[in-house]
Amino acid sequence: MTDLEIAKGVTLQPITNIAEKFGVDPDSIEMYGRHKAKLPLNAIDKQKASESNLVLVSAISPTPAGEGKTTMSIGLTEGLNRLNKKTTVVLREPSLGPVFGIKGGATGGGHSQVLPMEDINLHFTGDFAAIEKAHNLLSAVIDNNIQSKTRSLRLDPRTIGWKRVMDMNDRSLRHVIVGLGGTTSGIPRETGFDITAASEIMAILCLAENLSDLKERLGNIFIGYTFDKEPIYAKDLKAEGAMTALLKDAVKPNLVQTMEGNPAIIHGGPFANIAQGTNSVIATRMGMTYSDYTVTEAGFGFDLGAEKFFDIKCQSADLKPKAVVLTATIRALKYHGGADLKSLTEPNVEALKKGLPNLEKHLENIAKFNVVPVIAINKFITDTDAEIEVIKELAESKGVRVAVAKVWAKGGAGAEELAQHVIDIVESKASDFKPLYNWESPVMDKIATIATEIYGAEHVDYTSKAKAHLRKISNLGLDHLPVCIAKTQKSLSDNPKLLGRPKDFIITVREIEIAVGAGFLVPITGDIMRMPGLPARPSSEGIDVSDEGEITGLF
Ligand code: ADP
Ligand code: MG
Repeated sequence: MTDLEIAKGVTLQPITNIAEKFGVDPDSIEMYGRHKAKLPLNAIDKQKASESNLVLVSAISPTPAGEGKTTMSIGLTEGLNRLNKKTTVVLREPSLGPVFGIKGGATGGGHSQVLPMEDINLHFTGDFAAIEKAHNLLSAVIDNNIQSKTRSLRLDPRTIGWKRVMDMNDRSLRHVIVGLGGTTSGIPRETGFDITAASEIMAILCLAENLSDLKERLGNIFIGYTFDKEPIYAKDLKAEGAMTALLKDAVKPNLVQTMEGNPAIIHGGPFANIAQGTNSVIATRMGMTYSDYTVTEAGFGFDLGAEKFFDIKCQSADLKPKAVVLTATIRALKYHGGADLKSLTEPNVEALKKGLPNLEKHLENIAKFNVVPVIAINKFITDTDAEIEVIKELAESKGVRVAVAKVWAKGGAGAEELAQHVIDIVESKASDFKPLYNWESPVMDKIATIATEIYGAEHVDYTSKAKAHLRKISNLGLDHLPVCIAKTQKSLSDNPKLLGRPKDFIITVREIEIAVGAGFLVPITGDIMRMPGLPARPSSEGIDVSDEGEITGLF
């Protein structure tokens, strides 16, 4: 059965019942149909939230198929609820583009899904559309200002980094020339489109504490320089008020349900490479306000998503995670051990053993944040007992907890052992979260700390362009911002071909982007995709809708 078919077999509860179970007054929610709602911002209680136990689900370096973090987060939540811990899962919203690209959604899989999955994957409550509009409003205001004879700020078009966005995988929009068509149609300049998830506004919405903080951050978006080399920000164009107006509903977290009828909050979806890759601070706090345990996910592997989660989001919002679930799959470890992508379903203990150093490095990295991990083996039907034993032995030799989680096949019933480990870790109070670096350190030190400690690099090289960007950052007085390194998720290094646990490599920073609104700098290593393309055979070919309005073929 496909994920959609399994999902359709579940009878959904009215969202008012879910709100009641969650603990908010059903009359206070804004309904988007019968099964989706927005939660009011005033339902957040920071004090109560600080008493909840935050659990982060991350993963080893993934294969292209994904390791099952979302599926694991949902299954673990069901498992914790079964063990009578009131638990809410807080996740990112899917981006539309990838839904039509390579198969795979962002609502979990098998018997661990959030529902209604068709709606969540397609449009949902319109947050992405609102972000896209707010972003493109600023783009329009910029080009309008360049065109103006009387109110021009004399922006040098060649310095403008702010592009346009659209929520679709459309590679042909990566580079465009706008302003063609003569004197009444703008000043021609080169720009491009990114996918909406890559918008700085997405990153901003997900770090904002409330509406006023959102507006302030939007005003701080750096646009470029005037011909006199003066920096220009969104507030210089008086854009932030209208942008906030467009986002006033998008900033409210969305309530849905898991397959076993537990509350789930899904809000925001920033990219995990050029941005922080995790749902909004507001959503996390909302979950924490009403739950004993709050489970969340940080995108791609631990080196990329979790490092940013800890050093950017947790420091920004003063969150203290109590446990990390490190999702590992036998197939990915075999891949890291040199097995061919096509052979990953065949038993191969040798390759698996060779791949273990990847898992070991991620465990060492978790320890650097002083948080206690548990390894969750995401069980696939092709995994053999002999292979599972290899991981268990490694865990035992390291004194790390491990559980086989059958969340995909069994939902919460397959996660009880994992849930019990999480409870034991939290109740033992063994974690005492500390970030890896101090925001106030010099930018190059921050980058070096992450590259050497987390990635395992020898040292960091800078291109002359990146060095010029470092000077620009100093001149703008932005040295105190944390760094959100854009790197491939496929390897611990910046070279996607180096699998396992690469050694003796150098990280090269090619440029450093400024996201002052979001509140971080983005050192870029390798080629980073901000506007994906569709594969030769897009999954849109298999998606359809019946005369009765039933969607088919969506995963
Ligand atoms: P991630 O969040 O790490 O990207 P997901 O949880 O979204 O990963 O899972 C990626 C894909 O793998 C989904 O289509 C999901 O249904 C599938 N999947 C996850 N776990 C399993 C499993 N144990 N067996 C089979 N398919 C799985
Ligand atoms: Mg995911």
